[in-house]
Amino acid sequence: METVLSINQISKQYGKIQAVNELSLEVTKGQIFGILGPNGSGKTTTLSIILDLIKADQGSYEWFGETPDKESRKRIGSVIESPNFYPYLNPTVNLQLVADIKDFGYDDIDRVLQLTGLDERKKSKFRTFSFGMKQRLAIASALLGKPEVLILDEPTNGLDPQGIAHIRELILEVAHQGTTIIMASHLLDEVQKICNHVAVLHKGKKLFDGKVSEVLAISDSFELGSADPESLASAVKLHPAYQSHKSNADTIQVFFKEKVKPGELNAFLFERGVILSHLSERKRTLEQHFLELLQNNQ
Ligand code: ATP
Repeated sequence: METVLSINQISKQYGKIQAVNELSLEVTKGQIFGILGPNGSGKTTTLSIILDLIKADQGSYEWFGETPDKESRKRIGSVIESPNFYPYLNPTVNLQLVADIKDFGYDDIDRVLQLTGLDERKKSKFRTFSFGMKQRLAIASALLGKPEVLILDEPTNGLDPQGIAHIRELILEVAHQGTTIIMASHLLDEVQKICNHVAVLHKGKKLFDGKVSEVLAISDSFELGSADPESLASAVKLHPAYQSHKSNADTIQVFFKEKVKPGELNAFLFERGVILSHLSERKRTLEQHFLELLQNNQ
């Protein structure tokens, strides 16, 4: 897999605040890479560093296997601030001004307006746009010149459900066309719906990264009790969906990689000589799962 971005041990401090702490990440071509973390976890600082808007105190990063330069910057589009365009100009003219600044021709403007669904409103002034349309215009502007990578910071912040759905579909379409996406979000649900890879940040540190399907997989757990806890723990480990377990005072909590039915689990253990005195299912929402991950890393 071709590496698009590699971040090596970057750190950034603001006074006493460690905004980014020895962070390393690798993004490969075609990924929709989510940087997920609560407010203040260092997402925007990280994006600002890799876009060369601020300098890291330590560490380095490479774009496309090389130290970034003016040419590699042209291969990257980004939206990291609120959309800001000339209010009395229509989107076409606003994009022409962006193209002038970026030293691109105008021939890509119709394509990005169509892609972002703004072609029907290309004669309307920017000030008449809804916030969702403004955000789509910001994405259109970042897509001018067909960048290989699109970087987005909290792309659905402040949008209503319809606006969120529009942006989500747009990101997926852009990714489908072959653009690598790197997006920061504090919304677990958003990352789960859009991204295929995620890095979870907390207090500037990476807790872990991996495929969304693996990292954020909902794992149900069961609380099990038996007169012989040791045999119970040994037997449950043999279950094909077993992931891990925690021992409590008189029960064990068992996590599974996939859905397991209580009756089936009971029968499985019974067949291995374990008689349960207690069985209760514990369902965790994704939100709880994420919070647990953060708490375990305080
Ligand atoms: P949010 O979603 O709230 O923007 P974030 O995950 O993007 O959060 P950052 O904006 O990168 O986090 O901020 C990380 C930490 O660094 C926070 O504690 C923030 O207050 C602090 N910080 C960021 N920029 C500055 C700055 N220019 N001066 C001082 N502190 C800053």
